[in-house]
Amino acid sequence: MIWEKEADTAIKKVPFFIRKKVRKRVETCVTDKGGNRVTLADVQTLKKKFLSKGGMENQIKGYDVSACFGGEGCPNSVTPSTAQLIKDIETLMEKSNILDFLKSRVKGDLKFHHEFRVSISDCPNACSRPQITDIGIIGAALPRITGEPCSQCEACVDVCPEQAVHLNDEGPEINTEICLACGKCMRACPGDTLDTGKAGYRVLLGGRLGRHPRLGIEVPGILSHGEVLNLVRRCLEFYKNNARNGKRFSHVLESISQID
Ligand code: SF4
Ligand code: SF4
Ligand code: SF4
Repeated sequence: MIWEKEADTAIKKVPFFIRKKVRKRVETCVTDKGGNRVTLADVQTLKKKFLSKGGMENQIKGYDVSACFGGEGCPNSVTPSTAQLIKDIETLMEKSNILDFLKSRVKGDLKFHHEFRVSISDCPNACSRPQITDIGIIGAALPRITGEPCSQCEACVDVCPEQAVHLNDEGPEINTEICLACGKCMRACPGDTLDTGKAGYRVLLGGRLGRHPRLGIEVPGILSHGEVLNLVRRCLEFYKNNARNGKRFSHVLESISQID
């Protein structure tokens, strides 16, 4: 999709937390018309729709699942199956009928900030900002020392951004206290000394921005695809059982102070 300069300038004025979503909506409208070029008029048309009475509410589906660009070939991606996880979480959200739930609980028009948000990043660089969403998911792969001979080339030491790899005479040692499971060291190893160990996702719960920002709190361990889905399902149930008047997930978590 080509964006004309004026259209691009206009979209950059949209608040950052909904910019990606609005950009996608504009592109969908242009595609539906059979076009492949976004003009300023396209952006303005959607803006009018949003600002008309109830216009924003018509665009809201009750949840938002966003992801980084890892699935489009980012070399840092450690989780090739993220696309499937996104689909599965969207299906789960759809089935949970969160939109009707929000409509029944929010006084007045629904707004984007009422939506339940999940953000997925394919590595700890966290480009999609999973730390400040209701549920943040980060791709993770721990290194495994295989016992195969080490050439002492130091590639793993040099590439680790956390200084979590140390070499001794037998080979590498990983400091698991500070390792962020980014997978860089095993990708850098020219031999078979380092391999992929436990792989899956780290999960953060209850992050937000706004007047009283809060980073999501990390659930211990690396979770499998199935465990992530199960956790998302439980969080949705918890939210629906405890949220009043459109309160964000993070506020509900704070008020209850713990989740089983
Ligand atoms: S979070 Fe990681 S994998 Fe995703 S786009 Fe950023 S650097 Fe790439
Ligand atoms: S997985 Fe990443 S953070 Fe952990 S030791 Fe390897 S390079 Fe360092
Ligand atoms: S990159 Fe592999 S071969 Fe090189 S020092 Fe590290 S473990 Fe040994």
